[in-house]
Amino acid sequence: MATFHISTLGCQMNQADSLKLSAGLQELGYKDAISEDKADLFVINTCSVRQHAEDRAYSKLGILRKKREHGEKFHIVVMGCMVGANTKDLRRRFPYVDLWARPQEFEPILDLAVMERDVSLGELGAFDMAKTYAKPDGPTAYVPVIHGCDKFCTYCIVPLRRGREESRLPSDILDEINFLADNGVKEVTLLGQTVEAYGHDLKEETNLAELFEAIEDIHGIARTRFLTSYPKDMTDRIIDAVADCSKVCEHFNIPVQSGSNAMLERMRRGYRIEEFEERVAKIRERMPSASIATDIIVGCPGETESEFEETLDLLERTQFDVIHVASYSPRPGTFAYRKLDDDVPKDLKKSRLHLIEEIHASSAEKTKSAELGKIVEILVEKKTDDQLTGRTRKGQLVHFNSNASIGDLVDVQINEVTSWSMRGTQVGVFDLPILSI
Ligand code: SF4
Repeated sequence: MATFHISTLGCQMNQADSLKLSAGLQELGYKDAISEDKADLFVINTCSVRQHAEDRAYSKLGILRKKREHGEKFHIVVMGCMVGANTKDLRRRFPYVDLWARPQEFEPILDLAVMERDVSLGELGAFDMAKTYAKPDGPTAYVPVIHGCDKFCTYCIVPLRRGREESRLPSDILDEINFLADNGVKEVTLLGQTVEAYGHDLKEETNLAELFEAIEDIHGIARTRFLTSYPKDMTDRIIDAVADCSKVCEHFNIPVQSGSNAMLERMRRGYRIEEFEERVAKIRERMPSASIATDIIVGCPGETESEFEETLDLLERTQFDVIHVASYSPRPGTFAYRKLDDDVPKDLKKSRLHLIEEIHASSAEKTKSAELGKIVEILVEKKTDDQLTGRTRKGQLVHFNSNASIGDLVDVQINEVTSWSMRGTQVGVFDLPILSI
């Protein structure tokens, strides 16, 4: 039987795309080779948000080239965000790659897979990729709801590679979530680069709040999460729906990127810091115990010491639960790459990064310490002997000992916190909220 291997780099959206491609290849009779040592079709699903991610793809390509030189026969496909509209340069640099496919460009990969098997699609039986869902391998799953991004922040490559915002139809999304629930999924994470933009582009306009409400009625689903937020798109209606829908977890991921209005303007983020803080205040007013994570980029073009200090002030004022921080990495093709000087010295970027990492470590510890003694609901995601691991509704990792099973919702009292996780003791087993008809 023909085999495939998909190597996935980057974000949750790429993970979801890889699972979908894997489901399509299995429809064609391919088997997941699991190991990357031997496969008839090798796919690298790439990320180009930072240079480091691209370097990892190049190194994988180098390994595959050597395998080819040793006479091994297999196809190589590069898909995802590294592949833009024009692949001339990439083709020249990596002539041994058989196919370049943009994000979610599944059809040419499936065509190549069919050719490899030397049969026609007709013989294999037709299937609709839009309705081909990946079989889940655990109680949680990602569900993309809107693709692309219209925001064009100056440093970001995503809109150039993933295209404009394009929402999926609510009926398709709900079909997929029903399929996942029927196959044991308890928690879905709705994905979008700017997930609150969901629905604005559909003929029958809708929004994320309506989607949350529809998921409330899906039997078997206990939790809904959503990623990634964009402050300008986060309406009162959406915040109210998070507060009112019992399945939607009160956990927000809202990248602020900088605490300085001058820097936000250079980034073309489309909001002022006051507007961002007003959104955070609204969330905390409706859900005082909500967990709020953010992203910061340090060392963007022109970032002065006082602009960086404004970011530190924001972190002090806002007290985020989680802070993801990255150094600016110029991406060819973006406005910042073409028009702005990458003028913050490397060492300064590094020291700013470390400073924010330290702030993150101390606020993460504070957040976790606040949970000590509390009883929290855990969805069990992993089990090794009688050691279980799962997450709270706020997304915090908890270990505990129990004979519960993967997929159970368990009541756990937190009695220990470490830098990365928490430990607790089981005090009961929850029923799913909508089990009875
Ligand atoms: S909102 Fe900005 S940073 Fe986020 S994906 Fe869109 S362009 Fe990139």
